[in-house]
Amino acid sequence: MPNQLDRTTMNVVCLAGGVGGAKLADGLARLVPPQNLTIIVNTGDDFQHLGLTICPDLDTVMYALGDVANVETGWGRAGESWHTIAEVGRLGGPDWFHLGDLDLATHLTRTHLLQEGQTLTAVTRHLCRHFHIQPDVLPMSDQPTPTLIETDGRILPFQTWFVQERWQPPVHKIHLPTDARATPQVAARLEKADLVIIAPSNPFVSIDPILNVYPIRPMLEDLPRAVVAVSPIIGGQAVKGPAAKMMQEMGMDVSSAAVAAYYGDLLDGFVYDAQDDGLLAQGDLALLCVDTLMHTSADRVRLAQDVLNFALEIS
Ligand code: GDP
Ligand code: CA
Repeated sequence: MPNQLDRTTMNVVCLAGGVGGAKLADGLARLVPPQNLTIIVNTGDDFQHLGLTICPDLDTVMYALGDVANVETGWGRAGESWHTIAEVGRLGGPDWFHLGDLDLATHLTRTHLLQEGQTLTAVTRHLCRHFHIQPDVLPMSDQPTPTLIETDGRILPFQTWFVQERWQPPVHKIHLPTDARATPQVAARLEKADLVIIAPSNPFVSIDPILNVYPIRPMLEDLPRAVVAVSPIIGGQAVKGPAAKMMQEMGMDVSSAAVAAYYGDLLDGFVYDAQDDGLLAQGDLALLCVDTLMHTSADRVRLAQDVLNFALEIS
């Protein structure tokens, strides 16, 4: 069957959290013309701290696409200094959330523009322009849509669990808001999408919060043969962060096969790592088994290219 999509004109939408999402988004940004690429980013991790509105996943994606990211940590700015937060600690203020001096400039600017009445979508566009980012980076929603983590006898705000308690309390349940609505910009981009790529982000606290925002999930379900996910689990482990631990605590297998099963019918294609070769059975789901670890910039481009080729093949 001839390909109905043309790689130079197809509209690509990537759903992304922070570290894993930003790396694939960066690879895609080096291949897809900017007017054809949209990154829809999780805002379930956003919170108010020290009077500032902090959007960790949006910032991780912006710093990666703006080429100012700290590639060692995967989050925060390259060449960062920590004078302000160290002084906050000395003054008895809350210093558990790592805020670098350069990073603080983002939060100050964002908070100022939000207080002037702009939407988070408009503020993100403003920041992206100043980081010379061309593809559209869109928050999934303009409303606050906080993810809450239920652990032993407590329900914690996401960053309290993730950073302050170093994701150690066991996760029993994840609470997502029931009234989250997508922005008109998100809906318009999904309406025109030829391909939706679910980045190798945490399925439970990065991707689910996006899918939970109405009407993102039903819009994806309506797309013909065009939703492809990349596994964040390699060799039964997360590359970084709590995804594997959460799967275990929620009684799931820790494997790329379990990630594919978790996304279920939403997916038309699934990309998993060569280390897990043979672990997935070919059913209705189209499979691609390649190297999915992104250490270098070249790795990001290679994986993005593999995912785009695969999506073209199955569309
Ligand atoms: P967070 O919001 O910063 O936690 O980042 P994400 O949710 O976007 O990404 C976290 C997930 O990315 C983890 O489950 C990791 O296993 C996965 N991840 C990170 N780097 C890579 C990589 O290079 N390849 C793959 N396949 N997954 C990765
Ligand atoms: Ca995150």
